[in-house]
Amino acid sequence: MPWCDPCAKNWTPTSVPADGTCPDCGEPLEGTPGVEHEPYRTPWHFWVGVGAAAIYLGWRAIQGLMLLF
Ligand SMILES: [Zn+2]
Repeated sequence: MPWCDPCAKNWTPTSVPADGTCPDCGEPLEGTPGVEHEPYRTPWHFWVGVGAAAIYLGWRAIQGLMLLF
């Protein structure tokens, strides 16, 4: 059972956020399953997609501005 010391309260695992902190005070809870897992990291290919989309949209914006002049 996830236990919060400052609140002196037991939380059900389903009421605790994915990062394992107390919904009331935000303190890390003791005995929370999943806390020992590595924090979620954004996969590198996501940023490749974001970068490609940004470059493409930037290029299209430049093209659009060129048509105005
Ligand atoms: Zn708390």
